[in-house]
Amino acid sequence: MPVSPLRNIYESLKTILIGMRVTLKYNFARTVTVQYPDAPPTLQPRFRGFHWYLIEKCTACKACVRACPVDCIYIENTGPRKMDKETGTARGGAMTRWAVDYSKCMFCALCVDACAMECLGMGDVHDNSVYNREDTVVEFTELAKQGLRTPQPIWMQKATLPPWVAARKEAWDALARPARDEMRKSLSEQPVAKPAPAAAPAKPASEASSPRAADGPAEPPAG
Ligand code: SF4
Ligand code: SF4
Repeated sequence: MPVSPLRNIYESLKTILIGMRVTLKYNFARTVTVQYPDAPPTLQPRFRGFHWYLIEKCTACKACVRACPVDCIYIENTGPRKMDKETGTARGGAMTRWAVDYSKCMFCALCVDACAMECLGMGDVHDNSVYNREDTVVEFTELAKQGLRTPQPIWMQKATLPPWVAARKEAWDALARPARDEMRKSLSEQPVAKPAPAAAPAKPASEASSPRAADGPAEPPAG
């Protein structure tokens, strides 16, 4: 039996409306698409991104290397380093290399837990894409030469930045700025401060009357 043209028109319109219903619904729904990198992504507070590293506090103890399950941390230094309690920075041998191979890193943070100096942490950089495999190894000692704690994404190095990116970059700069001199010092050998000589213990009274006490100020023996 032939279908009437009116019936055909009705069915076509009905089909279009059913299809458009989904589109219409999303027109009024909350927007979830982020125009990244022009708008900031939402990262959770304990997000684990590329590390930050305080080179001036690192004693090159290699606890992080031993803790890393995939052996992707590389450390080289010219001699032992020791924490100087007065300045709160490590002194001694130069840090010639502290690097992480991010083609292997699992972002497990076991290295962070192992660091007794608390000079290592997981940052919020998650988008540091590179163009070849060699560049997946981040040389933090090279970053320290530039006064940086953590690698910056390539797109963050553009001449014009959206305001939130500029603010984030400035926050990173501010984090490292006060320690920049110390960071650079860690790249060369620094003398370890000698501990101050301990004060001589007070001599017991019995010793004061001994013959050796005659070298000291004249103090007649009692009696
Ligand atoms: S555990 Fe900490 S102090 Fe020791 S080498 Fe690693 S980063 Fe440096
Ligand atoms: S986060 Fe895990 S895998 Fe990455 S360097 Fe640290 S210990 Fe190694």
